[in-house]
Amino acid sequence: MRKKRFRYCPYCAAPMQMILKETRKGQEIWKNACPQNDCAFVDWNNPVPVSIVIIPHEDGIVLIERKRNPGKGKIALAGGFVDEDEDPEEAAVREAMEEVGLTIEISRLLMTYTSKSVNQHINVFVAKPVSAIPVAGDDAERAFVCPVADIPFDQLAFNVHRVALKKWLEQTNSP
Ligand SMILES: [Zn+2]
Repeated sequence: MRKKRFRYCPYCAAPMQMILKETRKGQEIWKNACPQNDCAFVDWNNPVPVSIVIIPHEDGIVLIERKRNPGKGKIALAGGFVDEDEDPEEAAVREAMEEVGLTIEISRLLMTYTSKSVNQHINVFVAKPVSAIPVAGDDAERAFVCPVADIPFDQLAFNVHRVALKKWLEQTNSP
């Protein structure tokens, strides 16, 4: 079971309790909840949405070296958290501008994925190919074009980026 995020209700300050919400395929689903009847806040702890984007660039793709933890010094795709009131596609476009200085257009959704370890719901998009030069910004220490044959799978910061790039490569290379 995931660590509790709230000891006290963020609305009414009552001590939170674990309650059995339902049984799903024989498995009990417990949630941390407020026991006050007039409040009844439940911390569902839904996964946080994240958008990442594969940006093809002539014979390569655009990658970054991360400036900060998690994954400081490691390699990643551009991406980040979907902001309040933002569509996942908009987040991908914004993050591409912030991290690699590129104006991109999304061509498709490659996959969605829930990372249990970080409780994130990750949308992986593919952008239309660009030819402009990437410029590092925000979370990126360095932004660069990596030839497809040289993608550093062993240096990637996040497993989902590895999974996404492998899936994209399979699709790209299949007839
Ligand atoms: Zn409450």
